[in-house]
Amino acid sequence: MTKTNAIKNVVIAGGGTAGWMAAAALAKLIGKNIHVTLVESDDIGTVGVGEATIPPIRTFHKLLGINEQAFMKATQASFKLGISFENWGDENTRYIHSFGVTGKECWAGEFHHFWLQGKTLGINNPFGDYCYELQAAKAGKFAFNQQNPINYAYHMDATRYAQFLREFSEPLGVKRVEGKIQKVVKNAKTGHIESLLLNSGEQINGDFFIDCTGFRGLLIEQALHTGYEDWSHLLPCNSAIAVQTKSTSDTVLPLTRSIAHKSGWQWRIPLQNRVGNGLVYCSQYMDDEQAKALLLNNIEGEALTEPRVIKFKTGRRLKGWNKNCLALGLASGFVEPLESTSIHLIMSGIIRFMRLFPFNGITNHAIDEYNKQLKSEIENIRDFIVLHYKVTNRDDSEFWLHCSAMEVPKTLKHEIDLFKQTGRVFLDDGDIFRVDSWVQVMLGQGIGPEQHHLIASMMNNEELTRFLHGIKQQIEQRVSQLPPHHEFLKQYCPA
Ligand code: FAD
Repeated sequence: MTKTNAIKNVVIAGGGTAGWMAAAALAKLIGKNIHVTLVESDDIGTVGVGEATIPPIRTFHKLLGINEQAFMKATQASFKLGISFENWGDENTRYIHSFGVTGKECWAGEFHHFWLQGKTLGINNPFGDYCYELQAAKAGKFAFNQQNPINYAYHMDATRYAQFLREFSEPLGVKRVEGKIQKVVKNAKTGHIESLLLNSGEQINGDFFIDCTGFRGLLIEQALHTGYEDWSHLLPCNSAIAVQTKSTSDTVLPLTRSIAHKSGWQWRIPLQNRVGNGLVYCSQYMDDEQAKALLLNNIEGEALTEPRVIKFKTGRRLKGWNKNCLALGLASGFVEPLESTSIHLIMSGIIRFMRLFPFNGITNHAIDEYNKQLKSEIENIRDFIVLHYKVTNRDDSEFWLHCSAMEVPKTLKHEIDLFKQTGRVFLDDGDIFRVDSWVQVMLGQGIGPEQHHLIASMMNNEELTRFLHGIKQQIEQRVSQLPPHHEFLKQYCPA
């Protein structure tokens, strides 16, 4: 068993979202026992995208004691209730994957079985009519209500978020060093990292290093040669182009838009003060100039920034924790931002690492446990993202023909076939997406299950009709009482 000395000095390389989230969490939650130093380079800067989140970010903020209003004001955040997927299953179709629970839960069969049974009786209301968050998102409404809790996340300005977390972390003792890392110095015998040598000649020593240097993976890959599993055969998009625009109206909707195009998809993320836009595409089917023209033709409002191309390779670092180095954020791997999962992976990586923190020395078992859990988590996310591409009726381009024909992981194929044949969904415990999410996406992308659970027929026709109408009516009434999202935002985060 490998075991090193006690870990006292943690050095974080990189100050983007990953670096500052790690610094904030370590300093706040275990800072009494360790020293944290963060090195970042103003010259290199950050990737500058990553604006849509999923609900567990609220748990992270709660854990850190972050005040929601202060965070939202600082990052110009808006509330997010889900994602509107447009033109995915087919051209001119739309569905919303929301953060809410659809209908009511039942011991044996989830709500969609009752909905499917209702369809056999001619009750053809869309599945989304039975979800509070989804209907609120559609109506552009939002408010807190103790009796009717609402499940939400945020859209936020990534650059301001890193700044906000820096201001949070430095008073807790995090030492920030500005400078460019020129060399990663390793111990010749153990291969562990000993220090980072900066351009200035300064040497930053540490017992443990967290690589948050983005796609370049300066420590985890360039120094430790950890290896990368490429998933381009499952997720062929390898480029993005991003541009910010002025909001065209005061009406900030509480949802992200994901609009499929012939060779990729476009995001639209509304913040309080501006809108983040981008196009994710596959360079095999569309070059950068075509992508730029397509994006600029499809944005609303005046561009505030020059369009910026970002290249990536979808996949995962073979080990998120290797020797005395943990990789977080883009350094640890990348699955395209279709379901806003990257910031979530940073958060879950930090929490997992803190639970295994090697106060008394690094052990192989701790490393293996971390890597096992990370692999399972990111593979579940990968499957869920691939689902959106695989299950489509689009045949209007080479790109979509490729996606619908491609071979997918056995795990995903099983989920799709199981749902098609039986209407059932069973997930791993560690899956961050719930059955509800899978059902919304599979129905939304056009799968009509051949069967459903006949628990739903335990109700007679009249009871089932009353049950379904009751839920729908209750949701309509609750949504009608909500104020418009932009009005709530003005009152909650006054300028
Ligand atoms: P970066 O932001 O690239 O930060 C790297 C840091 O390392 C910088 O501070 C840099 O200065 C420093 N650095 C690098 N090299 C050196 C050096 N030699 N010396 C010193 N410092 C150095 N995630 C979501 O959850 N939701 C989204 O909606 C979303 N959208 C995305 C859209 C696109 C197109 C892309 C590419 C990603 C998106 N992501 C999204 C992912 C998200 O942007 C990242 O997970 C997040 O920003 C974390 O980035 P990072 O901190 O790992 O890397």
